[in-house]
Amino acid sequence: MNVYDSEQMALILGQDYELTGRAEDADLYLINTCAIRRKSEEKVLSLLGRLKALKQRRPQMLLGVGGCVAQQEGEKLLQQVPHLDLVFGTHGVYKLPALLKQRQETKQRLVDTSFSPDLPYISQPRLSGSVQKLVTVMQGCDNYCTYCVVPYVRGPERSRPSGDIVREVEVFLGQGGREVTLLGQNVNSYGRGLSENITFPGLLRRLAELPGLARLRFTTSHPRDLSEELIGCFAELPPLCEHIHLPVQAGSNKILAEMNRGYSREDYLDRVNRLRQACPGIALSTDFIVGFPGETETDFQDTMQLMQEAAFDSAFYFKYSPRPQTAAAAFPDQIPEAMKTERLARLKKLQEQLSFASNQRLLGEVGQVLVEGFSKQKNTQLYGRLRSNLVVNFDGPRELIGRMVQVRITKAHLHSLGALLCEN
Ligand code: SAM
Ligand code: SF4
Repeated sequence: MNVYDSEQMALILGQDYELTGRAEDADLYLINTCAIRRKSEEKVLSLLGRLKALKQRRPQMLLGVGGCVAQQEGEKLLQQVPHLDLVFGTHGVYKLPALLKQRQETKQRLVDTSFSPDLPYISQPRLSGSVQKLVTVMQGCDNYCTYCVVPYVRGPERSRPSGDIVREVEVFLGQGGREVTLLGQNVNSYGRGLSENITFPGLLRRLAELPGLARLRFTTSHPRDLSEELIGCFAELPPLCEHIHLPVQAGSNKILAEMNRGYSREDYLDRVNRLRQACPGIALSTDFIVGFPGETETDFQDTMQLMQEAAFDSAFYFKYSPRPQTAAAAFPDQIPEAMKTERLARLKKLQEQLSFASNQRLLGEVGQVLVEGFSKQKNTQLYGRLRSNLVVNFDGPRELIGRMVQVRITKAHLHSLGALLCEN
């Protein structure tokens, strides 16, 4: 979502500014921030500290902080960082030209963290020339999971009219785009509150019909609201890739209830079974939080067991991080950092075994890859993703970048695969 928001900032400022890769050349330096865990927040303050010298050398350069940390800290951030010119919240992206003008005219340092009822997304040109695109379908969240800061920093849930989304995707496809990932904190509730009568599966169906769309993905769907209709879409809609990110967070029913997730481990495993029945071979990824307040060794064992039972293809795991305003930050029985670290290591070890086994099962198979560019590890090789979202590295010519090719899997690693290009 932050990547998408940064793209929107660059688009909206495109008339007055152009992007530069060198901080020394910048007239405007914007930092887009994440507040989901404390660590990401600390990184913002450390970057701001490092930018003090640059700002002293180039006082005319405007320095701004946007996104979730800006939303959360507001005025405090201006007080804490004297060389900061502007603080704009998660809904401030579209006000940037006006805010910058105000700053220039009044010479006053500014804060704007107000929420707007509807955000005017820009569906204009592709910035990076990439054949892939993120598209926001909704903003905010009303779920109030007890650990999560999102409802406070991104505001209430609001869906974007389907016509706007379709137009954004059409413009992108018209420019040669191939793959679209729809974004929302809980895409399953897409359509709620809109004047038109549309559900998320309805939106997927509309997009899947657009000529030129080769791949469609979405993230994130909440396990509580995963409908039969959405499960059916995986079997029904050819562009919809066989991958779902379904964050489970924990395997203990006690912890799931304390987290306010609205499902039990049994509900979750049942949904996984139904997905696999409807779409055999579907890749499943998830998120886990370890060390939630009150998590005992038995609760943690339940999480380990669920990880094994669900046999996730991949997972993200995080140490619980107490967040301002959230209910869980005030829960008793906060878990010591060392115990969180130790549990995280055990969970990681188990998932790595599962991921490696899942990747090994693909050896010898032929799959379709959308070529994204040169590999970061070995820049003579190309890389791209399978429909399951797994990264594949292989030798091939530069002309294949942006194209869809067939490869045969020859190597399985922990987080990626090696392959040989088939005759295409
Ligand atoms: N909306 C998505 C959902 O409900 O599944 C999740 C969005 S959140 C931005 C991404 C992930 O961050 C969550 O799935 C959770 O695992 C993790 N997360 C959120 N709050 C956290 C916290 N306070 N400490 C650690 N991890 C957290
Ligand atoms: Fe946070 Fe996701 Fe829960 Fe919303 S549904 S509160 S974004 S974890």
